[in-house]
Amino acid sequence: MDLAAVGTDVERVIVTEEQLRSKVAELAARIDVDYKDRDLLLVGVLKGAIMAMADLTRAMQRHIDMDWMAVSSYGSGTKSSGVVRILKDLDRDITGRNILIVEDIVDSGLTLSWLRANLMSRGAASVEILAILRKPEAAKVEVECKYVGFDIPTDFVVGYGLDFNEKYRNLSFVGVLAKHMYS
Ligand code: IMP
Ligand code: MG
Repeated sequence: MDLAAVGTDVERVIVTEEQLRSKVAELAARIDVDYKDRDLLLVGVLKGAIMAMADLTRAMQRHIDMDWMAVSSYGSGTKSSGVVRILKDLDRDITGRNILIVEDIVDSGLTLSWLRANLMSRGAASVEILAILRKPEAAKVEVECKYVGFDIPTDFVVGYGLDFNEKYRNLSFVGVLAKHMYS
C-alpha cells in the first residue's frame, strides 16, 4: 500500500521503499560475510518483522533456518510497558545455535534486551540482533544491535511491518502516524 492510499493518516514519510530495499540488501550481504561457514538461525519477532524477514532472507545467498516468536510488550497503545509475555514460542531447541533476532524496531529496548537474555539462557551459542529501525532517544536500556537499518526520531511510526492497532503493516514505506490518529 502506498502513501496515496492512507491519505492524512500518515504525516510524513521517514524511510522510502527504495531506501528500505537497498538497506536490506546491504545488511543481507554483510550477514552473508559475517556468518560465512557458520550455522545461522534467524528468529523473527512477530508480527512486525515479517516484511524485514521476507526481504532480508531472499537477498541472502546461503541456507538459513527461520523460526518465529511472538511477544507482547505494548497492549494496544503507543508506549512500551516493559512487561514482556511470550505469545508464541520457538518451535525448536536452540542449544548451540547462532541466532540472529530480526526485529522491526528498537524503541525503549526493553523487549529486545529481555528477548536476548531469554534466548541466551536457553544455551544458544550466540544471540545477535538486527533491527530495521532504532529510536536512539527513546532507549531506556542499552541494547547492542549488530545490524541497524535506520536511526529515526522518537515519533510513532507505521509501515513495513509496523502497526498501529494492527493497521498499516502493509505500507511499503515507513511513515510517522499523524497525531490526530491517536490523540
Ligand atoms: P520496545 O520494547 O520499546 O523497544 O519496543 C517493542 C515493540 O514496540 C517493537 O518491537 C514494536 O513492535 C513496537 N513499537 C515500538 N515503537 C513503535 C512505533 O513507533 N510504531 C509501531 N510499533 C512500535
Ligand atoms: Mg515488534
